[in-house]
Amino acid sequence: MSRVLLIGWDGADWRILDPLMEQGALPNLEALVARGQKGVLRSTIPTHSWAAWPSFMTGVDPVDHGVYDILETVPGTHKQYPVSYKSIKERTFLADLADAGKEAVYIDLPLTFPPPDIKGKLIAGGVLPKGRDFTYPADLPQTLEGAGVPWEINGMSWTTYHNKPDPYLEEALRVTGKRVKATEWLMDNSDWDFLMSVWVSVDRTQHCLSDYVGPDHPDYAANRKTQRYNKVVDVFRQVDDALGMMVDKTNEDDTILFVSDHGFQSCSRALHMDHLLKRLGYLEFDASNVIYGPMQWGPMRKVARKVYDTLGLHGKVSLKQPVSWSKTKAYTSIRSTGEGVNINLAGREPGGIVDPADFEKVRGDVMDALASFVDPDTGRKPVKEIHRREDVFQGKYADTAPDILMVPAEQYSLTHAKSAYEKADWLAGDHRPEGVMVAVGPNVRPFETEPKLVDVAPTILAALDAPAGIKHSGRILHEVVGSDAQVEVHEVAKQGGPSSTEQPVVTDAEAAEMEEHLAGLGYID
Ligand SMILES: [Zn+2]
Repeated sequence: MSRVLLIGWDGADWRILDPLMEQGALPNLEALVARGQKGVLRSTIPTHSWAAWPSFMTGVDPVDHGVYDILETVPGTHKQYPVSYKSIKERTFLADLADAGKEAVYIDLPLTFPPPDIKGKLIAGGVLPKGRDFTYPADLPQTLEGAGVPWEINGMSWTTYHNKPDPYLEEALRVTGKRVKATEWLMDNSDWDFLMSVWVSVDRTQHCLSDYVGPDHPDYAANRKTQRYNKVVDVFRQVDDALGMMVDKTNEDDTILFVSDHGFQSCSRALHMDHLLKRLGYLEFDASNVIYGPMQWGPMRKVARKVYDTLGLHGKVSLKQPVSWSKTKAYTSIRSTGEGVNINLAGREPGGIVDPADFEKVRGDVMDALASFVDPDTGRKPVKEIHRREDVFQGKYADTAPDILMVPAEQYSLTHAKSAYEKADWLAGDHRPEGVMVAVGPNVRPFETEPKLVDVAPTILAALDAPAGIKHSGRILHEVVGSDAQVEVHEVAKQGGPSSTEQPVVTDAEAAEMEEHLAGLGYID
């Protein structure tokens, strides 16, 4: 039986990787592409890691696994917790591989905290609270430490390095360097049918330094001639070396998949969706915004963190969502990317003020206002596409999906700004749906139709001849595993356990600490 090796580069996009390959900076990826088939892998809407990796794990769209944002709201309140593995309300292929008795190794896969029971080894990825078990088996960190390849959690909080690219790059290279060593050790010391690792330095670096590697960024041509250019490319060289190391440990019979959770586009402009809604007359802030405002970005945040650390307050100061609910008709409900807006509906939201009879009218007005908004500084519209919830989402958890969904225009991020709209500051790129895929293996042939992220889980199960516990919305990529490959479906109960909001998996203090780190990653402000 052949094995499957999967290498994930969070946020990778051919728009950035192709020019790097042409320059010879990514020889291992280039060699992999030469051996197999290259394609664009379509991500989810909303387009960010916290909705996309669960779709990767389940083979279903966000509407059927229920994770739309990095934070989830406790029903009937405005209290929010960071999402966790327990927030994924559908069975994952991790559970299917475990039930099929497959030996699997998962390294740094986002949203695998708290670590599920599997057969094999797992290091949870994403944002982790300190001092909690984050691996399976739980003593894996000690094993790695004893082997001289310690694992470091979190890191690469790019927003906390506001306009300080060099220290940011040093941290990205240092933390990732450790992860390369641990990954090599895990590959050498594990039997595996399936092994995957996710490399997040690509995403983090592109957020703040796409102006060095994104040919569509207005500063790209000038930045390419600088000394720093090489150091930014080093982040890509480092993960390319890791890719080469991992591919070298496979056989001709093995299937190799190279994927991203979403693609990337350059940004020179940024919005703050709540501030834009205020400007358009649909939202009011609380007075407390004045107090919290200055801590929300860059150097002030860093100072605030130092104060918290010194006083032992770290993790105890939560960042407020400073909306005045009694005066607000619409608010940002996907805070990590600004892609989702909700109507403050009476009977659904606590303190909702929009009468259900007026819902369609208000939603239509808000959609018109957002879609027709023109950035006065550029004369361009920041919102490329706008959709009603029911036009995008039809499935089990549609009722918790945002009422309005948006896709940003080229050069725009719908988040990361301090005001309604402004020149992007220490933000150079943000997500887009067009990600990457390379497939190599004995059965690989050209893609007939564009592969999707939700196709990956059924394809892995088909390659490993493991039954599925659910019907996937994605398809088996026969171009990867051959025409005859199938997945038997034995429907089983959902992976079980209450969701994070029913029974929080972290304490309030841990949630606040995680939110601080999420803010550092630019996911919330
Ligand atoms: Zn990202």
